[in-house]
Amino acid sequence: MTIKDKNFVPYLSSEEIQLKVKALAAQLNKDYKGTQPLFIAILNGSFMFAADLFKEISLSCEISFMKLSSYQEMASTGNIKELIGLNENVFKRDVIIIEDIVDTGHTMKNVLDQFVDRGVNSVEVVSLLIKPEALQNKVDVKYIGFEIPNKFVVGYGLDYDGFGRNLNAIYQLKS
Ligand code: 5GP
Repeated sequence: MTIKDKNFVPYLSSEEIQLKVKALAAQLNKDYKGTQPLFIAILNGSFMFAADLFKEISLSCEISFMKLSSYQEMASTGNIKELIGLNENVFKRDVIIIEDIVDTGHTMKNVLDQFVDRGVNSVEVVSLLIKPEALQNKVDVKYIGFEIPNKFVVGYGLDYDGFGRNLNAIYQLKS
């Protein structure tokens, strides 16, 4: 499959993704039983994962959004721009950050640093994908969908230069 000037091959099917989403939600429903967590989805990439995950959550809960960007075309710049900040009162809340992919971890470190000194009861991260070989920051991602190799992926919310987000499966850059 071609997006703009690059070729991609199938990597995770829609069925595999949906099964994993259900498993992650089941774990969260169990771990957060009796609490009212506040989910915070990191835009843009996580919108599809966040929507599917959130529909499987059976807890009394809320969701809000932050928008950050660090990627240009195919590389994480480490220079994070905050486009929509955290507006919620998170004091004494159980916060669950929803991310599409943790790559270098710069974005997640930046997000997690914002919760220091805000008096949260707890903060954890659920990420559909993580690239362990690319990680440059010590970030604790408690809930992980798939550990993937350090190769560029698109689909299911993830883009290549703006395109490919609408694909219901995940594709890997053809090497
Ligand atoms: P990090 O700050 O951890 O390096 O990068 C996190 C962000 O970079 C993710 O939220 C995502 O938007 C983007 N990103 C990282 N790896 C990939 C990838 O393989 N494909 C796409 N499309 N985006 C990625």
